[in-house]
Amino acid sequence: MAEQPHTVVIVGGGFGGLAAAKALRNAPVRVVLIDRSNHHLFQPLLYQVATAVLGPGQIASPIRNILRDQSNVTVLMGEVTGVNKEARQVFVSDVDRKGIPLSYDSLILATGAQHSYFGHDEFERYAPGLKSLADAVAVRNKVLKAFEQAEAEEDPSRHQDLLTFVLVGAGPTGVEMSAAIATLVRNSLRSDFRRINPTSARVILVDRSKRVLGSFAESLSKAASDRLKSLGVEVLLDRGVDEIDEDGVIVAGERIASKTVIWTAGVKPSPAGKWLGVETDHAGRVRIQNDLTVPNHPQIFVVGDTASLDQDGKPLPGVAQVAMQQGRYAGKLIHRRLSGEPPPKPFRYFDKGSMAVVGKGYAILESGKVAISGFVAWMAWAAIHLEFLAQSSLRVSVFVQWVWTYMTGQRGSRIIVEHHPTPVTPAAETTAKPAPEEHVPVSNR
Ligand SMILES: Cc1cc2nc3c(=O)[nH]c(=O)nc-3n(C[C@H](O)[C@H](O)[C@H](O)COP(=O)(O)OP(=O)(O)OC[C@H]3O[C@@H](n4cnc5c(N)ncnc54)[C@H](O)[C@@H]3O)c2cc1C
Repeated sequence: MAEQPHTVVIVGGGFGGLAAAKALRNAPVRVVLIDRSNHHLFQPLLYQVATAVLGPGQIASPIRNILRDQSNVTVLMGEVTGVNKEARQVFVSDVDRKGIPLSYDSLILATGAQHSYFGHDEFERYAPGLKSLADAVAVRNKVLKAFEQAEAEEDPSRHQDLLTFVLVGAGPTGVEMSAAIATLVRNSLRSDFRRINPTSARVILVDRSKRVLGSFAESLSKAASDRLKSLGVEVLLDRGVDEIDEDGVIVAGERIASKTVIWTAGVKPSPAGKWLGVETDHAGRVRIQNDLTVPNHPQIFVVGDTASLDQDGKPLPGVAQVAMQQGRYAGKLIHRRLSGEPPPKPFRYFDKGSMAVVGKGYAILESGKVAISGFVAWMAWAAIHLEFLAQSSLRVSVFVQWVWTYMTGQRGSRIIVEHHPTPVTPAAETTAKPAPEEHVPVSNR
């Protein structure tokens, strides 16, 4: 009987998992890549879907389509719920089957991170975060609906909470989102409404730290903060959010009335550490060794946002480049092991730099000793993000949309999509009073 090929199970088709699968292209292995969603998502552009610049299909691609030419990979859509290290099995649930065991010879866990409300999970109901395409569409709906509701509202005193947008967390996502919402209200929407003035909308960015974009050089933080203010974003620093509810937020004891609060403050790793029952760092990320394996389990690799590895005394950041470089390394190491070659040198992250966009035509860029802000940084940001999109079709489509938006100020995807609209019951229909003549009815479709 023919010998079964070595099976590599990769959990997660994000930046780390996809890079690992591609690195195994020529290896004598059978790769099974499992993801709970059918697509690879380019998270750095999620805020552009949330602010209606791009449509969801422009920043994500089906994983099986990306890997269609790699015959040693099978892609499965399913949710991994646990790992049995001794039996070398992962447990996968799909639509109608739960906890199916799947055997592996090598395992790469690349399950990323999810929102963290820092112990205040009750905030989630009122302040959605931005991690998946569904999140981005939900935030886009919320932002666009606030304007629709305000236009339909007859009591002008209610407009202000509808047209007040609060972003909690002044890291890259909060800064990019707040600048994009400010640009949306000041440019794209300004002439579309009759009863409200979209430019009167308030965009407020709150953080308990003393500066925005704390991981960047201080001069770049200052440049980003000045730019946000010039776009009309109110930046409230050194102030914590005490409460978030349906009426808005309480910041350092003061209530800000808002119907749209967006959480951009923090993430926590996937439960991979719990599945494995191994040592994690304070945030719950799996402690790995510098060959990216879990101590005492040379066949289990953990990469990307769900892994914790120190380099030069500091933990590696949760960014796409770390995940991609780690994924590639894990794939290469497995290939070498099977070919009887010596292992590669211990993993070392090569930091190419960090960037953040602050509105139209403006970004900040830090790479080694280089720290620049403005249009040139924005051009570099645009070129790099186009290059890293998963497929050429997305590159072309995003490029064309950006040029169009840059020239006209028009957004690509200002559609409110309600996936599960609440049906109007016959009883509600018959008891509803007729609207007064001048009243503009509010539709929930
Ligand atoms: C809004 C936002 C903006 C960002 N901007 C930038 C940026 O500008 N630059 C940058 O470098 N980084 C940025 N990041 C961070 C970057 O996206 C992450 O560091 C990177 O995605 C981590 O890669 P990963 O492979 O570890 O996880 P991910 O890319 O998140 O992939 C994890 C995959 O695992 C799957 N998965 C999770 N759990 C399970 C399970 N139980 N079963 C099956 N599948 C599962 C998920 O569906 C997902 O496809 C941003 C992140 C966000 C949220």
